[in-house]
Amino acid sequence: MCEVAAQRSRPILAIVVPCYNEAPLIVDTARKLVEILEELSSHGEIDNQSFIYFVDDGSQDETWLKICHLHQMNPQKIKGLKLARNFGSQSAILAGILSVRERAHCAITIDADLQQDERAIPLFLKSYKRGAEIVFGVRCDRSADSFWKKSTALIFYKCMKAMGVRIIENHADYRLISRKVIDSLAEFREYNLFLRGIFADLGFKTETVYFKAGRRQIGETKFSFKKMASLALNGITSFSVMPLRLISILGAGIFIFSCVMSIWILFKALFGKVVPGWASTLIPIYILGGLQIMLLGILGEYIGRIYKEVKARPRFIKDIELF
Ligand code: UDP
Ligand code: MG
Repeated sequence: MCEVAAQRSRPILAIVVPCYNEAPLIVDTARKLVEILEELSSHGEIDNQSFIYFVDDGSQDETWLKICHLHQMNPQKIKGLKLARNFGSQSAILAGILSVRERAHCAITIDADLQQDERAIPLFLKSYKRGAEIVFGVRCDRSADSFWKKSTALIFYKCMKAMGVRIIENHADYRLISRKVIDSLAEFREYNLFLRGIFADLGFKTETVYFKAGRRQIGETKFSFKKMASLALNGITSFSVMPLRLISILGAGIFIFSCVMSIWILFKALFGKVVPGWASTLIPIYILGGLQIMLLGILGEYIGRIYKEVKARPRFIKDIELF
């Protein structure tokens, strides 16, 4: 127990930084992060074995070369990992977190462009020392973001909430997680990972740190529209089967409507004046159309359940065990 308390008061911290074509700014980023680590360890806030872990997500520029160079200059503080190709930031972050699992007591993930204000790192540590297992970085001011980014993010968070998904608004991938949380994350075996959803869903003692997001100083966003849309779709489909349920609801609605229409057509055909063949053509169209969508919905319900099963997510997450 004492050892655990000592680890918490002076932990080995790993800062995990995903990088995709970030060669122009990576040296500057490394310098700023090393400064923070040195300051924190000189004040005894973290162990001096703390380090920065760059994950090169299949960059086509000189990012990896620069990481190697930075490592040679400061092997104790700067480490790196090169992925075989571009897997996307979520996979790069996951690779980084799982790789530092055995070597650090806690990890902070932050973007390479430091738009997320690295000066908030000491606040994350304070929350960790108070006992938080996950500390979420939340942007308190998005004025540096474009109108496009702000509005798409707003729509995304509203959609997620409407579908009943637990998600923290304005939290991107800036967070601190303890070793315990990393161990739990390792139990998630699904291919399409949406980390923001998983961390918000895990439980544990959490705290929030608010920070002001800045602008990207060098280069452009590495999130093309395609990547952003795919991340959003991943978020929705991996946490909700609501789209499938909507088909069921729609199907049931259309089927009821079809039945009513069929009765009306039958009534007209029996007691009114209609063109011959009108009723015998329309009734099957209504009944079959409604039935088909309803049956599709029932299939969807089963597919939704199969989908949840194949992800094989842990059914519970242990926090503390007294044994
Ligand atoms: N990134 C990555 N792989 C990708 C796209 C982005 O590792 O395929 C990294 C990128 O280098 C940065 C972080 O993810 O460290 C966030 O990217 P960016 O700053 O371009 O996103 P934005 O701030 O525009 O949302
Ligand atoms: Mg950025």
